[in-house]
Amino acid sequence: MRATTVSIVALTSVFAALTSGFMTARPQSGLACCRALKGILPDDTFLPNTTVYIAEHHDFWSSTEGLNPACVFLPNTTDKVARAVRLFTSLNCQWATRGGGHCPIPGAANIDGGILIGTNQLNAIDINHEEGYVRVGAGNRLGAVYTALDPHNLVPIIGRFEDIGLGLAIGAGFSFLSNSEGLTIDNTLNYEVVIANGTVVNANKYSHPDLFWALKGGNNNFGIVTHFHFQTFPYDGTVYGGNIVHPESSFDQVADLFYEYHTHQAVDDVLTHAMPSYVYVGLTDVARAESLVLYNAPVDELPPILQPWLEVPYQSDTLSRRTYGSLAHEGGNGIFYGLALRDQRLFSVYADREFLKDAWEIQLQWLRAHQDVPGLIGVQVPMPITPNQVAQGVAKGGNALGLESTNNGRSIVVILMLLNFSNLADLPRLRAEHNALMESLVDLAKERGVYHPYIMLTYSGAGQEAIASYGAENVAKLRRIAKAYDPTGVFQRLVPGGQKLPRA
Ligand SMILES: Cc1cc2nc3c(=O)[nH]c(=O)nc-3n(C[C@H](O)[C@H](O)[C@H](O)COP(=O)(O)OP(=O)(O)OC[C@H]3O[C@@H](n4cnc5c(N)ncnc54)[C@H](O)[C@@H]3O)c2cc1C
Repeated sequence: MRATTVSIVALTSVFAALTSGFMTARPQSGLACCRALKGILPDDTFLPNTTVYIAEHHDFWSSTEGLNPACVFLPNTTDKVARAVRLFTSLNCQWATRGGGHCPIPGAANIDGGILIGTNQLNAIDINHEEGYVRVGAGNRLGAVYTALDPHNLVPIIGRFEDIGLGLAIGAGFSFLSNSEGLTIDNTLNYEVVIANGTVVNANKYSHPDLFWALKGGNNNFGIVTHFHFQTFPYDGTVYGGNIVHPESSFDQVADLFYEYHTHQAVDDVLTHAMPSYVYVGLTDVARAESLVLYNAPVDELPPILQPWLEVPYQSDTLSRRTYGSLAHEGGNGIFYGLALRDQRLFSVYADREFLKDAWEIQLQWLRAHQDVPGLIGVQVPMPITPNQVAQGVAKGGNALGLESTNNGRSIVVILMLLNFSNLADLPRLRAEHNALMESLVDLAKERGVYHPYIMLTYSGAGQEAIASYGAENVAKLRRIAKAYDPTGVFQRLVPGGQKLPRA
């Protein structure tokens, strides 16, 4: 009886929508869209008065993403995603797609008044041993993927923190093995994706190769990815690594260490990996460097090339022989988690010893000047894109980032600046000031001739034009591919959030 009522309401709404909003360019009301969706997929659609909605609509890493969608849709099959996209396209409904919800840009993976598609229920993990890949549902967190693969002594090229989602596989993606294998996008063999007309396409190097290229950096502009195929690499079951904490008194030597990692260690031995990080906590006024350092081999201590990390006076370490899952778990336990508002900024430079040292000194001064901001934590993470990482991208079929024409054979350093704080009222002021700080560092980099224009999409902040940074030629190519697969611009008009294709 109840089901009949729902479908009559839904059908009435669909009819109303078809005879009004559909004909105009204006998006249909979220309520009407949700009723229509509930009519065709009642078990997967959750309205605001349900516990599922309450839990899901604020389930984001940064509270800046806690918006108020008209309903939450949790499809558990590719077919349901396809049916929903056909409905949304015909009714002109706006939506946002959430992977793991770690992008702090408001509206990137959530939406006020539209439909939040949570991919959580697309959680399959199927290992194909014969062909050397794992098929992963788009809603998986990285920890689940490592946990499934570790017992088989296999590792994919995905990120380093267990809680993050797979958005990195359509943006860029640094992994434990990036120095040898390149970025996540370069080790993704297939995207199963629902495109604008609601059909399901497998994009890989043989089938729809243009779309395959575009998805390697093109974010949510081309479709909803439902499953990824990641190449798997055999390993011996354990590697050696952990976090090393250096106190502020070591910062001069730490800055040299970071530079050596970017230009020598990461370049000359591709089994090395580090995530060099500085942290400042306002409450205690303590700054430290807390860096993941790793050797991708079953050894019992850091090899000579990584020994400098232990020669600089340090205060603690968690180095041990362990699985990738254990490393990702440790990353997930760090200061990055917990409820907070976040702003992140990202810019790039060519590796330069003096600049890297000055960039943190300037950011630290700025953080100390903001010490009294409630909940203040500031982080700087300089991460290398080595010449081999770029070459791996080219050798594995190419991606949309455009780095091969601009890296000039040098290591590019992407510098992530992250700000945590507690009060919503501080958001506009802090975002503006944090951005101004980044702009001043960009100006300094330009003055010193070390600036590089790349903005890594996965770490970019609100207002930063990541896709424009791929270069005019690649942007034009992305636009052509978007036109071919999405002639009416569904993924521009109806999916308004996140890093979008620059307008022509
Ligand atoms: C604590 C922390 C640790 C991190 N560590 C790493 C790391 O080790 N390596 C690294 O490279 N990056 C890392 N990142 C950055 C991370 O890659 C980005 O935050 C990325 O956006 C996370 O993806 P998500 O699915 O969790 O995010 P979401 O916010 O859910 O998605 C990001 C964007 O991708 C789109 N999207 C997501 N899934 C789909 C889909 N299936 N189809 C279409 N569009 C989709 C969304 O619409 C959104 O615009 C880290 C971030 C955090 C916060």
